[in-house]
Amino acid sequence: LRTALHTHQGLEVWYQPLMDISGQQVVGLEALMRWHHPQRGVISPGEFIPLAEEMGLIIQIGEWVLREACRVSLAWPDISMAINVSPLQFRSAGFVERFKAIVQQEKTLPSRIELEITEGVLIEDEKGAQEIMRALREAGFRIALDDFGTGYSSLNYLSHFSVDKIKIDRSFTQSLGVAENSVAIVESVVKLGHAMGLMVTAEGVETPGQMSALADAGCNQLQGYLFSQAVPADQLAALMISSAPDELHHG
Ligand code: C2E
Ligand code: CA
Ligand code: CA
Repeated sequence: LRTALHTHQGLEVWYQPLMDISGQQVVGLEALMRWHHPQRGVISPGEFIPLAEEMGLIIQIGEWVLREACRVSLAWPDISMAINVSPLQFRSAGFVERFKAIVQQEKTLPSRIELEITEGVLIEDEKGAQEIMRALREAGFRIALDDFGTGYSSLNYLSHFSVDKIKIDRSFTQSLGVAENSVAIVESVVKLGHAMGLMVTAEGVETPGQMSALADAGCNQLQGYLFSQAVPADQLAALMISSAPDELHHG
């Protein structure tokens, strides 16, 4: 991983679209890392991000992802760009200043960038986390709460932190039509988000049935394999033209 980071060989940033609720229009992109190991093939970020955190490489990796994503976002001026920020990175000294500097160096604006954080940022130092979020939003970055509903304190952190968006975890999306009460839960989360003036995105949308349930529940944006997986930057142009699934084009 150290070598890959040093040479940039095998490490790539791919992009998954966020769709409007009709599923027809790309409104955002989420930057997701990919690592193609020369011997072991593709290693998922679920495996190597925790490793990068342990090795202290996550800060360097995270800044590289931001820089790449800023460059790609210049080609798509009407579309927001989401970056995942690890709690370790979030809490590192000088984080806000470094992110501001990168965005400026890449000649884009913080308002184009959405930072996806999880409730892990709250561990240990809630006051400190509030301070960092305030500084980020003051600089113009938008903040999304990722994996919403999976942790211990989701409701607690909504009341203590000012954010712009919640992303309903894919476990809720995938329980729609399967688990009892799943529709009621998703509807409640959407209502709660809207009552607080937030955008609500649902992750992990894989079927037209899930999509229509999420639209009925009032979600604002959708993300998932139904529309597209993450793709390399050079495939984004094709995606912008044909990201909606066939049944949506024809239905
Ligand atoms: P995440 O932020 O929750 O990202 C969404 C994950 O769900 C991605 O997995 C994406 O490919 C996958 N996904 C999207 N749509 C669907 C769907 O319809 N069905 C299913 N089953 N999965 C879907 P990926 O790319 O393997 O990333 C895993 C996690 O690794 C991410 O979860 C994020 O926490 C972390 N990660 C990825 N890139 C970065 C990065 O640059 N920095 C940091 N700190 N973490 C990253
Ligand atoms: Ca995410
Ligand atoms: Ca997520």
